[in-house]
Amino acid sequence: MIRPPVRLRSNEVVTHLFKPSRKHELPREYREAVLRSVIERAQRPQAPPITQSYLEQLQHLDSRGHRVLSVYLEIPEDPRMRMELGALVEDLAREHGGQSEELEREVGLVQEFLRERQEWPGRGLALYSCQPVSFWQEYWLPVRMPNILRFDAKPAIRPLVAVLDDYERYAVLLVDTRQARLFSVFMGSIEEHLEFLDEDVIPKSKKGPPGRSETHYLMHQRWHLKRVVDKLDDFYERHPFDRLVVAGPEETTSTLRELLPDPLARRFAGSFEASMDDTAASILEETLAIEERLEREQELELIDELIVVASRGGRAVVGVDDTLEALLLTRVHKLVVAHGLQLSGWACPRDQYLSAKPIDRCPWCGTQMMAVDDLADRAIQKAIDLEGLVDVVGGEAADRLRKHGGMGAVLRF
Ligand SMILES: [Zn+2]
Repeated sequence: MIRPPVRLRSNEVVTHLFKPSRKHELPREYREAVLRSVIERAQRPQAPPITQSYLEQLQHLDSRGHRVLSVYLEIPEDPRMRMELGALVEDLAREHGGQSEELEREVGLVQEFLRERQEWPGRGLALYSCQPVSFWQEYWLPVRMPNILRFDAKPAIRPLVAVLDDYERYAVLLVDTRQARLFSVFMGSIEEHLEFLDEDVIPKSKKGPPGRSETHYLMHQRWHLKRVVDKLDDFYERHPFDRLVVAGPEETTSTLRELLPDPLARRFAGSFEASMDDTAASILEETLAIEERLEREQELELIDELIVVASRGGRAVVGVDDTLEALLLTRVHKLVVAHGLQLSGWACPRDQYLSAKPIDRCPWCGTQMMAVDDLADRAIQKAIDLEGLVDVVGGEAADRLRKHGGMGAVLRF
């Protein structure tokens, strides 16, 4: 019996929308229904936030012995290149998922999903699918994901966990002379903390400085801001964040900045002009712009440091040969790759020994090496298999890294 698709509530994992069909081949109507619901959800302006607890749920997905497809994709900025994503998934499946009819069906659904896309609300995409138990979950991520495909007993959540660990949590304080609102921004999603609302300081009817005196008014204002800062400090104790953004009239935000105690002051990332009734969407947009700028600065710092430390023979390497060598010796703590890097080279089909230079036989097992044109993707896959971190950098940082082969690494030892 075919039932209409159940709409998923945000952040909820539903493993059995339908009773699993006895045969492997799912009816076309079913596939279409799933696809429609998937597309509807994906087109919501806000994707549900990814949390640690969500990932734990995902890890415990009961797939009844069926294998689960996990796909991570870096979304190209060039729309023409996005049309190639379906073919890329097929390549990844051939190289990293093995061959089976089950996998082919999963890949087919992913390709259909990619083909139907109207909007691409992220720089990275994480997809998990297990058709035999009617499971499908996709996440658009504000960060570039390395291209990875896995077809295993459990969803491969490591790449997403690594991103979560690496991703910074922002608190955005919106404040004026009377009120305050607080938001959290994480992985491109915004959430307001309603318990934070603060508006009982000066009666609303009094718009400007009250009749008594300017000093009295300023005192009140300062007192209000001090109270807001205390509340923020409390909040920080309970829900630590990495960065603080302050929004509001310029005068107020600069006064407030002076009142920030040390741990909060060190987390200050920037401020912007806003008013108390601005929408969460506009607050998010401004915050993401600050985040983007900061991220670009951090990427540049990382690359410059890599290059300097590597040149001194410290715990870093740059260049394809040195990086691959470190990777194969399991010395890589964080692999750093320039966005969109294409490299050809050689790989051992048995143990994934990698080489940028032509070699005939694998030094580890003696197997005939094969020529590959996705050496960078394979290096990323290797780093993740070895529980390392991966950072795909863009913009100016990528340009600088490309002058050194487009690849480098922070080493463990
Ligand atoms: Zn080998």
